[in-house]
Amino acid sequence: MSELAGQHNPDDLDVLVVGSGIAGLTVALGLAGRLRVAVVSKEMGGGSTELAQGGIAAAVGAGDTAAAHAVDTLVAAAGLGDTGVAELVTAQAAEAVARLVGFGARFDTGAPAREGGHGVARVLHARGDATGAEISHALMGAVKDRGLPVLTGTSLIELLVEPAGRTEGTRRVVGALVYDGALKKVRALRARTTVLATGGYGQLWAGTTSPVTCSGDGLAAALRAGAQLADLEFVQFHPTGMAFGLDPRPLASEALRGAGARLRDSAGRYLHEHNGPGEGDLAPRDVVSRSMARRMAELGTDYCLLDATPIEPEELQGHFPTFLRSCLAAGTDPGTAHVPVSPTAHYTMGGVLTDGDGRTTLEGLMAVGEVGCSGLHGANRLASNSLLEGAVVGARAAAALLEDDGRAAPRPAVALVEVVSEPAPGELIDLSLQGGGPAAERAALREAMQTYVGVSRNGAGLELVGAALAAAASSSEADHEPLVGARAEVENMRQVARATVALALRRCESRGAHWRTDHPGTSERWRTRQVLALSAGGMAVGELAVADGGATEPALSVAPAAGAQ
Ligand SMILES: Cc1cc2nc3c(=O)[nH]c(=O)nc-3n(C[C@H](O)[C@H](O)[C@H](O)COP(=O)(O)OP(=O)(O)OC[C@H]3O[C@@H](n4cnc5c(N)ncnc54)[C@H](O)[C@@H]3O)c2cc1C
Repeated sequence: MSELAGQHNPDDLDVLVVGSGIAGLTVALGLAGRLRVAVVSKEMGGGSTELAQGGIAAAVGAGDTAAAHAVDTLVAAAGLGDTGVAELVTAQAAEAVARLVGFGARFDTGAPAREGGHGVARVLHARGDATGAEISHALMGAVKDRGLPVLTGTSLIELLVEPAGRTEGTRRVVGALVYDGALKKVRALRARTTVLATGGYGQLWAGTTSPVTCSGDGLAAALRAGAQLADLEFVQFHPTGMAFGLDPRPLASEALRGAGARLRDSAGRYLHEHNGPGEGDLAPRDVVSRSMARRMAELGTDYCLLDATPIEPEELQGHFPTFLRSCLAAGTDPGTAHVPVSPTAHYTMGGVLTDGDGRTTLEGLMAVGEVGCSGLHGANRLASNSLLEGAVVGARAAAALLEDDGRAAPRPAVALVEVVSEPAPGELIDLSLQGGGPAAERAALREAMQTYVGVSRNGAGLELVGAALAAAASSSEADHEPLVGARAEVENMRQVARATVALALRRCESRGAHWRTDHPGTSERWRTRQVLALSAGGMAVGELAVADGGATEPALSVAPAAGAQ
């Protein structure tokens, strides 16, 4: 195992944090010197945080208020946002930014920027479009300065679960089984509370801006341990992932379109007549993505073009250095040539069901950042709200742990009322996701998700992937040894994909980032969040109704806390 810097014996931990993005490091820093905490991570950083370009949202500008920020957040969430969570996250945004500054992050001076969906300018940047890199660098420096123990090159395999003892059948998480890639050894780390901060599941799609670490390991481990997941069907596709054949795809921020760049189809024609705020090229991400997907299908191509030539070279250099560097590295000068782009999986709204403090439905387990699902984003995320969520919910989780001496009480679980019925393997055309080794299987899964569970979906395509995933799962059920490395990641990806497809198939409407061509309307019946957990022999689903005003509350009878249903 990599060197455990610092003084703590990992077997004596109060809190084990898994993941070293903004969410995980915020939790660890909040506990430094107060509780015995250690961080394990596949890589130091290595997640989406260091790639974030657009910025972090906070109502710090003249005339702006946290209440207005909360309203914009709930509008973007398309009826499924949790009002309480939106209010607390936006109210604590300025404090979260000040904390990041205290850890050493330097934000650009001048007025905040305005981004799509925000009623006013409230997005803070650092080093132009390198906001995430600046935050990540600052947090890592602060962790080092405080001598916090960090194990890198170490992957979560499973959560360790024991009977909770208080209520029949309830369980609690008592640490994690991790794999040291360098030493090729599995080790059990016990802790009173394990905090998942492993990021999202964007790698399930062939075209994604999410780094390779985003294979959904945390979600899959939480699911196997008995936690409930929510809102998995909502995945935000960014219109302008750059189609240079790289994985992950570099991102062309929509601020480029705000600065005058235009979308064209592959034949060079403008995609939209208009380029005004909220319309045409600058409409919400899901609208632009679908418009691009339609034109690509009409022309039989797999890309559109971003024409950034209207932007002055000095502005490209000053405000978009990351974009410029990515283009030049791929041999394209955006000052003179059009850049190939296509809709790209960018942010996963679904995750482990939590409250605004990161409490999951299992005792001893918290989830913060993109791996969690606090209800902030509902069916669609407002730009620049995810760094904010990591910073606020991460700090709240640390505060809750301090208050309770390192113990995480669970949030209420949702009653599961329906067993998921998946199409039987072989009923449909065989979409083989097996054979050829982990790399080939990962690629096959990602292509299938991109094709059938992408910007738009329909029942037939979802059933096709669902059947193939069920077949792949039944053939790997005989494995009892803990899986590690690439094989573990593929199995985690399949498990999260299977749950995602089940919820996408069940939601017979179009809302936010979930667009069903066979159910194009939004339905009041579906103004409810879906929750999923493993049940005997498969998966089961429950629903969380959304109260007027957008808050979510348990719609159905609430199961015993931490019940693994
Ligand atoms: C290109 C891009 C641009 C973005 N721009 C913005 C933006 O401008 N503003 C905004 O608000 N949001 C943006 N986002 C989204 C935002 O960056 C993420 O939602 C946020 O950074 C997630 O932080 P996190 O700490 O939850 O996870 P991450 O930063 O993804 O960190 C996850 C951590 O978990 C580790 N890990 C993963 N699996 C395991 C495992 N099995 N075992 C151990 N460790 C593991 C990883 O190594 C990593 O350290 C962007 C995302 C991308 C991809």
